[in-house]
Amino acid sequence: MARLEAVPDFAAPQASLEQYRTPPEVAADLLWEAHHEGAVTGRDVLDLGCGTGMFSLGAHLLGASSVTGVDVDGAALEVASAIVPGEFVAADVAQWQPPRTYDTVFMNPPFGAQQRGADRPFYACAAAAVDRRGTCWFLAQPRTERFLGGQAHALGASLERVRSWKYPIEARFPFHERPVQVFEVAGYRMAWE
Ligand code: SAH
Repeated sequence: MARLEAVPDFAAPQASLEQYRTPPEVAADLLWEAHHEGAVTGRDVLDLGCGTGMFSLGAHLLGASSVTGVDVDGAALEVASAIVPGEFVAADVAQWQPPRTYDTVFMNPPFGAQQRGADRPFYACAAAAVDRRGTCWFLAQPRTERFLGGQAHALGASLERVRSWKYPIEARFPFHERPVQVFEVAGYRMAWE
């Protein structure tokens, strides 16, 4: 999974979309958790808010039968489609209607720091995309766990925290006051079974 290091960062990150490339080691850990459960190899994988393709590439390397990425940012999608064989769709997850069913979803949605509730449509989209039969692996702040549990419950899913990391975020937007801010991020598994 060292190959995930090669995924480019956003060329011009947009704060309003909370564009942060997931650190490769964090993405690799979450991908492995899913892989150990048989959720990647030979599966149809969807990467919501795929950005430059971090989870898409990981899923491809682990032998997913298909990889589909969705993002609103066309420039990021171009990067992703250049490094990962897959289908990349320019769309807002709040509007996108999954044209088919997927087995497994990965996502590192906006944490809602810039726009409250920006992560909400991601859970609903994931639920629709797996047609309530697969799993969704995602990153979120553990302090929002109660909210996440409520979202899962409303969608008929179970929620489990699988990992947590100290996740460094380097200053990249004008409102960032410190060069590196470390905050805790957790990996979750939402499942319909
Ligand atoms: N998955 C990538 C990027 C995470 S950053 C990685 O792990 O590195 C969050 C991503 O969600 C950005 O690429 C941003 O453009 C995208 N995004 C934010 N809101 C979105 C929305 N409503 N619909 C689709 N994509 C969205």
